[in-house]
Amino acid sequence: MSEIKVLPQEVADKIAAGEVAERPSAVVKELVENSMDAGATLIEVEIKKGGIEYIRVSDNGCGIEPEQAETAFLRHATSKLRDVEDLYSIETMGFRGEALASICAVAEVEVITKTEQNDEGIFIKLEHGKVTEKEPIACGNGTIMTVNNLFANIPARMKFLKRDATEAGYVADVLMRMALSRPELAFTYICDGKEVFSTSGDGKLQNTVLKLYGLDYAKALIPVDYTEENVTICGVIGKPEIARGNRTRQTFLVNSRYIKSHVASKIVGEAYRNSIMTGKFPFFVLDIKIDPEFVDVNVHPAKTEIKFSRENRIYEIIHHAVSNALRGGLAGGTTGRLSENKPRIEEVKVSDREKLRNTEEKPQPSYKPRFEESFAEKKPNPEIIREYFDNIVRKDDFSENKNYEKEDKNTDTSIVCDEENVEEDIISVCEPNEENKSFVIQESFELNERGEDKEKYPSVVGQIFDTYILSSAENVFYMTDQHAAHERLRFEKLKKSYYSNERMSQMLLSPIILKLDYAETQIVLENIDTFTSFGFEIEDFGSGSIIVNATPIAADEGEIRDLILEIAEAIGDSLKHSVADFEERALDMIACKYAIKANHKLNTAEMDDLIKNVWKLKRDGITTCPHGRPITIEFTKKEIEKLFKRIV
Ligand code: ADP
Ligand code: MG
Repeated sequence: MSEIKVLPQEVADKIAAGEVAERPSAVVKELVENSMDAGATLIEVEIKKGGIEYIRVSDNGCGIEPEQAETAFLRHATSKLRDVEDLYSIETMGFRGEALASICAVAEVEVITKTEQNDEGIFIKLEHGKVTEKEPIACGNGTIMTVNNLFANIPARMKFLKRDATEAGYVADVLMRMALSRPELAFTYICDGKEVFSTSGDGKLQNTVLKLYGLDYAKALIPVDYTEENVTICGVIGKPEIARGNRTRQTFLVNSRYIKSHVASKIVGEAYRNSIMTGKFPFFVLDIKIDPEFVDVNVHPAKTEIKFSRENRIYEIIHHAVSNALRGGLAGGTTGRLSENKPRIEEVKVSDREKLRNTEEKPQPSYKPRFEESFAEKKPNPEIIREYFDNIVRKDDFSENKNYEKEDKNTDTSIVCDEENVEEDIISVCEPNEENKSFVIQESFELNERGEDKEKYPSVVGQIFDTYILSSAENVFYMTDQHAAHERLRFEKLKKSYYSNERMSQMLLSPIILKLDYAETQIVLENIDTFTSFGFEIEDFGSGSIIVNATPIAADEGEIRDLILEIAEAIGDSLKHSVADFEERALDMIACKYAIKANHKLNTAEMDDLIKNVWKLKRDGITTCPHGRPITIEFTKKEIEKLFKRIV
């Protein structure tokens, strides 16, 4: 057997560094925690190339005394912990005294720091753990830590890192959660020279949410402030409409420190059980204020996992806090800090158009009839169209899409379709039926030469609950779920055009500007081609906004937004699925948005069309919606007679 040896310090440092400085976001987290511990109120983080090339964290905190500055980089050097007893009552973010030592073992680090008491600051440069430069420097109070070329001396770790944009996304995620944990601190995040976000540090969590996630989120918050047995749960939870398909917008804090807790997240989810659909996760930022003695944060090197004593009791309290707030919030209750103080949401820097949209006092019915919605609004004003062409549509697009001309003439419809589908889509899908301003839903039928449909279809009897279409044929009675039916029809049609590379795009008369959060914007912009293949035309609109010029379907703004985010989420977890699965999921999302909903009255012509198409599908062996729910259920005459005991 080989001789047992103590590892050289350098190797030991590299191993330890792997735990603390796992990737750029972990380095940023440690440096920002130090800034917080130093009492900073302004923290600016700048990274380049995902943080691998460059990370700089500047703060206006207490700074480090010149003679102490070098010591700070030694392992187990900390100003925050003196003896073992302290371990159980930690109130600072850091206390292991490992971060700086670990980071400087795997990168080149420069620090510029000055305390208020000193006239002069100090500059120190360390290369892979060794001080290479040290000199006094004129600078302001506070600390600037710069980390260059992270992991340049550990190629194996470099390989483990993801693409720059992905790493930058992780950094954004960490910083967002830190900003949420301390609304009284002003955070700025700059990535590759562009400011990604900047929080005001005015102490209002709602304003932090606004800066990080946008107005839709800030407007849909319910305050939480609940105490039971010396445990206080405070923060905000989101109304069901801002629930998302993953947990990235859930932030748990314990005494203002971000932690990961799958169990706690499940508990919150349970409190929402009857308010949101399965598969959706509520938005929240919840801080569990608890005596530090009951918490052990020391279990994970990155300090993101913790242990509570009396764990189950704490989960119960979280559940109570959320259920109470939710009950009050959804009933329009006025308990809690946010609504009592009614803080004004700060103005956001968005275009006037967006501002207008967001402040418009639209009544929000729980169901918005799709085909009847604001017909007048949809009627294009030729002047707007002209202005639109002049300003927004790129000239080269114009020559490619002759359909604009068509649209200009055909001012009765709002939607411009691509040339090949223009007839069918405008005429059969969207043609207004003058009398009742509703639309005839008609997919293409196979007609014989004389223009007649040879096949026999059940005849429509009527509609019940504004949701099911009743029809009968010979000795069978049918009930058809209108949403399931239409969703399947749209899905098949979208699939057909997608796989035959036909564009299923419709130019929007007024492009939609959507403010997304950082991660969402990144995913959308990085995957523009995927969105284009599904019929979207999306461009970067700057400062976390995108502009949508065309969509695969005619839907209202809210639905387009939801759709883009749903697809972005699906792209996010597409790694778990095959490409074909992802494509079908995305097509289904589009189909679902476009399909007639339940609780929508249909006229006879619409019902006839739908039933005929359902039968056409049935002949092709398709009898369920894309999620597998049945489109039609049937009862034979015999079964009905049995129910009435006419026969046995
Ligand atoms: P820990 O945070 O666990 O104490 P670190 O290695 O992160 O260990 O930092 C070591 C010490 O360096 C800290 O205890 C603190 O005294 C000092 N320090 C680090 N960053 C800063 C900063 N931004 N401002 C002031 N002091 C700092
Ligand atoms: Mg630290």
